[in-house]
Parts: sequence; C-alpha cells; structure tokens
Amino acid sequence: MVVIGAGQAGLSAGYHLNRRGFASALAEPGADRSFVILDAEDRPGGAWLHRWESLTMATVNGIFDLPGFRQTPVDPAAPARQAVPAYFAAFEQQMRLPILRPVTVTSATRADDEPDGELLIDSDSGTWAARAVINATGTWTNPTVPAYPGQESFAGRQLHTKDYTSLDEFTGQRVALVGGGISAVQQLEEISQVAEVFWYTRREPIFRDGGFAPEVEGRDVISKVTADVEAGNLTGSVVSYTHLSWTPYALAAKKRGALVRRPMFTQIEPEGVRNADGTLTPVDTILWATGFRAALGHLDPLTLRNERGGIEMRGTQVAADPRVHLIGFGPSQSTVGANRAGRDAVRSLTKHLHPAIVSS
Ligand SMILES: Cc1cc2nc3c(=O)[nH]c(=O)nc-3n(C[C@H](O)[C@H](O)[C@H](O)COP(=O)(O)OP(=O)(O)OC[C@H]3O[C@@H](n4cnc5c(N)ncnc54)[C@H](O)[C@@H]3O)c2cc1C
Repeated sequence: MVVIGAGQAGLSAGYHLNRRGFASALAEPGADRSFVILDAEDRPGGAWLHRWESLTMATVNGIFDLPGFRQTPVDPAAPARQAVPAYFAAFEQQMRLPILRPVTVTSATRADDEPDGELLIDSDSGTWAARAVINATGTWTNPTVPAYPGQESFAGRQLHTKDYTSLDEFTGQRVALVGGGISAVQQLEEISQVAEVFWYTRREPIFRDGGFAPEVEGRDVISKVTADVEAGNLTGSVVSYTHLSWTPYALAAKKRGALVRRPMFTQIEPEGVRNADGTLTPVDTILWATGFRAALGHLDPLTLRNERGGIEMRGTQVAADPRVHLIGFGPSQSTVGANRAGRDAVRSLTKHLHPAIVSS
C-alpha cells in the first residue's frame, strides 16, 4: 500500500497501518502486507512547515495529538511552523514509520482494467505498484486565486496567504486583503497594525455569537460536509460551513476599527482596485487570502471526479474506485478529522495489500 503525504492525516494512517501489522515496504520489500509513505517535503511537518512566522501555538485553532503520542507542553508564543514539525519529527521517530522524502507523486494510474488490479504511483523518484492508495496530500500546495479583470495589469505586488511570511513586509503600505476566512481575519488583524488595509469579501462575513461548542456545532458541520461529499458535490470553503468566530484576534481587529468589510471590487487596475461603487482605491499590494482546494491533481488520470467536478465518497473511500481513499479531505480537513480518517481508511482497507518497487 502507498500512502501519499506525511502531514497529520498520512501520519495517522501510518500509525494505524503499523498497529494492524503492516510491515515497512522499505525494510521488507516482498512482504504481503506492507506500506510506504511518500512525502514531498524534505523533512517532517507537512504544511505546518510553511505557515507564516507569526502564527503561534497560541493563535492556531488547536492541534490534536497524533494517535498514541502526546504533545509535550510548548510555549504558546512558539511559532507553529517550528513547534508542530518538531512534534511530527518525534512521532515519526518513535513510530518508526517508513517515510520516503522528498518524493513528489506526479500521477496515479491503473495498471490494467481489472477492478482489483494494481495502481501505479509515479513519482519524481520512481514508480510504485500498490493494491491501494491512501491519499493524504492536504490542500496547502493548491492555493485558490480567483480571476478578476485587469489582474495582470496590476503594477504592485500580488501574493497568496501561502506566500505570506510576516507583517514587516507591509509596513507603511496600502493593502487590499481579499477573503472572508479565518486566515483573512488573522492577517487583517496583523497587517492593519503596520499598514492601511482594505478588506474585501464576496459575501458579508458571518460571525457566530456565543463561541463555538465543538461537540454540537462541530458535529453539525461534519454532517453537512459529509452529506456533500457523499452526494459527490464540490465542497465549499471551510468558513462557508463553520462561519467565523469572535476569536481574540477578530475582537482585537474590531476594537481597533480594522474589521471593516468592503464588497468585492470589480476590476484591478495598474494602480489599485476599482470598487463596486465605481471609485478607485490605490493599493501597493493585493493579498489573496482566498483559501485552498484539495491537492489531488496527481489523481486526475484515475478520473475520480463526476461531471459536477465532485468526488463521490463512501466514508474515506472513493465510490468510483474503492482502492483509493482520501483522508484530510472533505469532513476530515482538521487535525482531529485527519486522525480519524487515517484510522477509518486503514480499517476499511482489505487484507493482502502490498506495494512493490517497479522501477526507481
Ligand atoms: C493556515 C492554516 C491553519 C490551520 N490551522 C489549523 C488548526 O489550528 N487546527 C486544525 O485542526 N486544523 C488547522 N488547519 C487545517 C489543517 O490544514 C489540517 O488540520 C491538517 O494540518 C492538514 O493535515 P493533512 O495531513 O491533511 O495535510 P498537510 O499537513 O498539508 O500534509 C500533506 C502532505 O502531503 C505532501 N504532499 C502534497 N502533495 C504531494 C504529492 N503530490 N506527493 C507527495 N507528497 C505530497 C505535502 O508536502 C505535505 O507534507 C489549518 C489550515 C491552514 C491553511
């Protein structure tokens, strides 16, 4: 079996494969039940390696422990991009997971037309044949940037959340910040301390009053996303299901008068953005905090998508090809969801699965 990706979801799958007695395909290449994890990063940490500098353990939403391995207490001021990768590294070492990195999977294809035949997993480091694949590639490598007329004519800088490092680079600037999600609100609160920020969203952001009771609202959100993926619908953004919370940074931005939303601009011009009311707002930078989509391009040859662009799921299993499991996808796009999905995918996979190196 091949697991693609070693973030929270892939590591959870690895843990459960170990527990169920799957051998390392690296130590025992011919073993009947064996697995390998292929990860594009050059070190442990998944997407956490790339979070912006000022995202600390105090400002993340909360990171669930990986299975069977408690996080040791960390300084709340520690950057998440250091603390989480250190935790993942310790987990990988403790669990002795067979992870190969850096290995980027470029495509997955069917070796033949047999429904239980092998899948060929092509990567920049060779090809693997597997009876099943657990895909855990997250979203970070697939940022969404919407298209607006005149975008290419803009004379200033455009960047996505993915490229944001810290507020210092915006000092004294005029910034158009686009997006209505959690990252947008965090970045608005930060950058508005050193720059003039104009916040644009397509829809009026909805802030939930009275906090978030995960055991109630969390369950409700998960059922809605599950219903969408089981119907093969394209899922919306995280915030379209969860809405926004009055987090300390949202409240701080509100208190400073920074949480002022404008309707989406209609056009981008060399010196700025043309507002819905026809006026021009000159800006130096456009920051697209417009989210991410599941990074599944390498699975395209398997034609898992329906005519609406969605992938119909049964739990973690793809309805169109039961050999393929997607974890950290749909309802499992959170650290706790990724944990559970890793467990569920391994549980549901049949016995006698084994990968073998075809070429490298
Ligand atoms: C800014 C931000 C903050 C967040 N904060 C929280 C939070 O506080 N709490 C929470 O529960 N959730 C949070 N989330 C959601 C978060 O993304 C998930 O909870 C979780 O970290 C995702 O884990 P993952 O394993 O699915 O993906 P990732 O951590 O993205 O891991 C995917 C791995 O797959 C690798 N990969 C990708 N493509 C390939 C390929 N083709 N071949 C090989 N390897 C590949 C990547 O390099 C990466 O190592 C946050 C998301 C964002 C964007």
